[in-house]
Amino acid sequence: MISYTLICPKDHEFSQQFDSYDDCQAKLKTGTMKCPTCGSQKLVKGLSAPSVGGQSQTPQPMQPQCPSASTCGASGCGLKG
Ligand SMILES: [Zn+2]
Repeated sequence: MISYTLICPKDHEFSQQFDSYDDCQAKLKTGTMKCPTCGSQKLVKGLSAPSVGGQSQTPQPMQPQCPSASTCGASGCGLKG
C-alpha cells in the first residue's frame, strides 16, 4: 500500500491509500474518487508524494569536438594542438 495526497479544485487536501502508483493514476483517470469535503471528482495528486527511487541523471559535460575530425588536419582547425 502507498499513500498519496490528493487535492481537489477547491484546495482540499486529503490522503488516500492505493495499491500502487498505477492504481492511483487509474483511479484519478476514471474519477472513482471524490473529495470528502466538497465531493469534487476532479482530483490531482499532490506534491507530497513519497519519493520512490528518484532517478538522478548527471548530465555529461560537453566535450569539445572537431566537427570534421576524420578529415582534420587543416591549418585552420582551432581544436588542433
Ligand atoms: Zn474539495
